[in-house]
Amino acid sequence: MKEALFYVKREASSVQCQLCPRGCVIEPGCSGDCLARKNEGGTLTSASYGQITSFGVDPIEKKPLYHFHPGRDIVSFGSFGCNLHCLNCQNYRISQFVAPSVSLSPEQLLARALEEPRSIGIAATYNEPTVNFEYVLEVFKLNRAAGFKNVLVTNGYLNPKPWEALLDWTDAVNLDVKANDPRFYETVCRATLAPVLRSLDALLERQEVHTELTWLLIEGQNDDPVKLSAFAKRVADIRPETPLHISRYYPNYLMNHPETKKEALFSARDTANQHLSYVYIGNLSEGDHGTRCTNCGEILVQRFGYEISVSIKDQHCPKCGALHPIRMD
Ligand code: SF4
Repeated sequence: MKEALFYVKREASSVQCQLCPRGCVIEPGCSGDCLARKNEGGTLTSASYGQITSFGVDPIEKKPLYHFHPGRDIVSFGSFGCNLHCLNCQNYRISQFVAPSVSLSPEQLLARALEEPRSIGIAATYNEPTVNFEYVLEVFKLNRAAGFKNVLVTNGYLNPKPWEALLDWTDAVNLDVKANDPRFYETVCRATLAPVLRSLDALLERQEVHTELTWLLIEGQNDDPVKLSAFAKRVADIRPETPLHISRYYPNYLMNHPETKKEALFSARDTANQHLSYVYIGNLSEGDHGTRCTNCGEILVQRFGYEISVSIKDQHCPKCGALHPIRMD
């Protein structure tokens, strides 16, 4: 049994979790909204600690991270649980249910990761990793001590203290922003927008943590150009070099809207491009997925699927010398 961090005890063995904005009050024997934390006789425990439902070695581009060690692999793991309940969740089998798992201590996970010579480190991903806070933090500490990178793929729905504590040990984040619309968060994700924007701002202020953003575009739901433009401006005002991945939606789980049309993706990219220099389209095989120099148009990173060819040198364009913050260190 692993005691959780960030909670308070209440009367009659009840506890209140303070990890995320939900602030679940949990009675003995019951789990929190995310399923990953459980009240065991008046002690809040991490039910997902060391429970691995998914493990793989992925191209770093799959997270997606395009400006962080392009062309390299990363060991990726997930557990179960999530504090959002998106109707269109792509990983609902492990995020919305207690999925079958195998037990691995942080040391065992690291040992397994070290068997992958092309991997730059470990990514906590697949389900929502922040609800597995204690385990992810321990893995990240061990992994950094071993000289490897830590990557977090998250919805950012976390309270400020644990968010900052996790970022202290994180090298790169992909933050999955669902929309710039409180109503979308309430109706599609059963959550609220404000805490996500708070996490986003705090993340962007931490220049040492490489950051990329994902926006799964659903026509008629979160494709309002005014809201998308305001979001892109918010990001650009703090860190204009932040890459944004506008990803194509396909029907999934409880949502039946038709898949997003290509034209809608291109239009959203143009909207975001008014404020951000690096906007990519994801989940679409056709089109140019490369990174070009924003000064002279020279290709810096070529991407054909997951075949990657890197020509940028020391963060500078090989043709005109312009600086591009693509991290290879
Ligand atoms: S982390 Fe889980 S248990 Fe804790 S407040 Fe959030 S949803 Fe509830």
